[in-house]
Amino acid sequence: MEYIPEVEKYMSEREKLEQLITHPELRFGYVCELYYSLLGRPVPKQLDLLHTWFPGMIITLEESDGSTKITPVYNDTERCIHAVKYHEYIYSGGNNRVTQITGRLIGTSSSNLEKERKTAELIQKNISRRIIKEMDPILDLQENTAEILSELSEEEIQDFHYLLYMYVLRTADHYNETEEYFRDTELYPYDDEVLEQILYNALYQLLKYDFDGMVNAYLWLLLGSLLRNECGRITRTYDSSFIPLHRNPGESSNFLDKFWYLIAPEDFESVYTGDDLDQRFPGIEWFCDNCHDHLNEQPGFDDHLPEWQCRKCGYVNVLDSSAIYDNEEDYHNDIQRKDDLEEAVQRRKEEVKK
Ligand SMILES: [Zn+2]
Repeated sequence: MEYIPEVEKYMSEREKLEQLITHPELRFGYVCELYYSLLGRPVPKQLDLLHTWFPGMIITLEESDGSTKITPVYNDTERCIHAVKYHEYIYSGGNNRVTQITGRLIGTSSSNLEKERKTAELIQKNISRRIIKEMDPILDLQENTAEILSELSEEEIQDFHYLLYMYVLRTADHYNETEEYFRDTELYPYDDEVLEQILYNALYQLLKYDFDGMVNAYLWLLLGSLLRNECGRITRTYDSSFIPLHRNPGESSNFLDKFWYLIAPEDFESVYTGDDLDQRFPGIEWFCDNCHDHLNEQPGFDDHLPEWQCRKCGYVNVLDSSAIYDNEEDYHNDIQRKDDLEEAVQRRKEEVKK
């Protein structure tokens, strides 16, 4: 009998947390709101909000005495807003254009339909380019997010984890249930695959049940909601932990690399960066030539065997470097560009030994 009230108390606390999810939608303002409402604090004003979670990326703080109101200005070529602190906060008054741009980025106000839409998109493009070009910006963002979240108490961390988890599930549900027509015509529509990948990455990280996972999950939600479809480049460049995805040159994010690889594959060297070195063909995914089932996942699969009988259809697949293709298109056209896979693995083994 004593047991029941405790369960109820526990339930109601969880329910209370879930009530903090006001909108199960991927918009920057709503994603930020989760953090501030957990702490019972007001959500900072637009410029402060952008500066807190994306320092140095959208707003450049200028030197000032801190007690003079200086109107913020947007610089088109730099794609950034110059502003100053007024007392503790960034001064945001006096420039309608800046208000329109930030409103668009934060995405929760319905009043600025088209105005400065293009400018906001240019800012989004600029940020995502910087993030895929080199590792530093994403590492800085990771560090910044971790720093902010590390101020939470043990209990708040658990609550925030639960809150994010429910938010991701409910947002996925919301998009799933919204008819295509409304999804495509909403205020800031997402490409389905971009939205799905962002939510997937966030959930993947949350299910690691550790602090780093929570940081990564929240950063995916912040990035995804701020950059909208421009986040697609980032999901294609990094895995859910923000580790660069290994790509052969044919899948490189650099368009010209892709081009030159088609023309002169011999100029490119295969590189293996993973750690599955006990496998004969690390990093290679095998698919049944007959039914296309993913063989690596079949029980008992071992790529040291000379061949593998598909557990699904019975077809005998040869496991040999002659059966390895860069991608499905090459497989269908029977084009093999590279045969230096074993050397790449050998180099990696030596690298790991050091
Ligand atoms: Zn098969």
